[in-house]
Amino acid sequence: MRTQDSAFDCDIKLCNSMCCRNCAVLTRDEVSELISKVREEYALELDPCKYFRPAKGEHGIYYAMKMIKGRCIFLNKENRCRIYKCRPALCELYPVIDVDAVDENCPIVAKLPREKIESLKRQYAEKIDEMIQEEEKFLFI
Ligand code: SF4
Ligand code: SF4
Repeated sequence: MRTQDSAFDCDIKLCNSMCCRNCAVLTRDEVSELISKVREEYALELDPCKYFRPAKGEHGIYYAMKMIKGRCIFLNKENRCRIYKCRPALCELYPVIDVDAVDENCPIVAKLPREKIESLKRQYAEKIDEMIQEEEKFLFI
């Protein structure tokens, strides 16, 4: 989600924050980091069992942010992220969804200059966990 990033000028009334309807998958270390950042930034203690769901890949166990009725558990009623300042890198880099792919359904894609999208793709390649990048699919356990 980019609704609080003035550089992107998202209109959530138009897109309904659709980028927060796919659960990002994180490593155990990324979850720990997120929990400690949220504690520091929002004085909020996240219970991992309440907010994350384990998923098995070919190379290990990962954690997906839980979804409620098709929405990320951190999305509030106004379609805004409750942990925006600490959101995972995959959320920050949206609408890039892979090293060479964007989500064409996101309305901001048509407005972003090509150089910005290429820059986001490079950041994605740098930030995405190598193990997660190698996984073909995840099975919730
Ligand atoms: S963590 Fe925040 S930005 Fe990421 S999907 Fe959930 S609500 Fe959206
Ligand atoms: S990144 Fe796309 S889908 Fe997400 S809030 Fe912005 S315009 Fe909407």
